[in-house]
Amino acid sequence: MDSLLHAIPVNGVYLPDFPWRCRYPREEWIIENVKWKSEKKLESLPRPIAVCGPSGSGKSTLLKRFLAEYKDYVDFSISHTTRKPRPNEIDGKDYHFVSREDMEKAIANGEFLEHAEFSGNIYGTSKNAVKQILKNGKLCILDVEMVGVKNLKKTDLNPKFIFVKTPSIEVLEERLRNRNTESEESLQKRLARAKEELVYGGTPGNFDLVLVNDDLEEAYRQLKEFLLPDIEGLKRRMYH
Ligand code: ADP
Ligand code: 5GP
Repeated sequence: MDSLLHAIPVNGVYLPDFPWRCRYPREEWIIENVKWKSEKKLESLPRPIAVCGPSGSGKSTLLKRFLAEYKDYVDFSISHTTRKPRPNEIDGKDYHFVSREDMEKAIANGEFLEHAEFSGNIYGTSKNAVKQILKNGKLCILDVEMVGVKNLKKTDLNPKFIFVKTPSIEVLEERLRNRNTESEESLQKRLARAKEELVYGGTPGNFDLVLVNDDLEEAYRQLKEFLLPDIEGLKRRMYH
């Protein structure tokens, strides 16, 4: 698996863009951050967050809310996919929707940090998507399925891993059906994959946090509780 760091061309350090809210003049901000980074390097940035869970478990619902609430500090890594957009999805916002041919070429060209086949389509995280977020000094959030999680564990990205699940497979099926986005064939493929993912998600040590998305408010509260220390750290860095 390729290294993300080789894709970051700032002398091996992440340099955030100057945040408008920072009290320092730009030069001081840069000096402080370069010093801070050269001393502590990667450990100084909040570790990215990779969110996994069966299709229909509520990842997008939870993440969209979190991203809207903390938009100054957090950004979503927009994946590439060969799947067709759903009616409410926007190219470049929900995904970069691409042809299989273009995706395969880009993968062969080393542009992806990880990629996987899921339900008949390729999904992948481009190095560029993650790089831009890290350069801006924001907390980077990724939404990846199980193979993606396994592949990310082989890179130097060093994310924290969150697994989201429903209280039962029956509830998962009901939510997927009610979402009304999948054909029966796609729904069955997703449910079959969910069974494997639930085993992986339930294996101790694979995830830093397992969220049961039963009551949405409670699941969101737990997600926030887990992520707020990183947000507080970013706030301190930006304001002081
Ligand atoms: P994923 O991104 O994991 O595929 P979604 O966020 O699209 O899942 O959620 C699947 C469906 O379940 C959506 O229609 C969403 O509105 C609904 N949903 C999400 N969380 C809950 C919840 N806690 N209770 C009931 N419905 C939920
Ligand atoms: P959906 O088609 O429902 O949007 O996504 C299907 C699955 O693909 C979900 O489990 C989601 O987590 C996963 N996924 C989305 N983007 C990526 C990605 O960049 N890499 C990998 N490996 N999986 C992804």
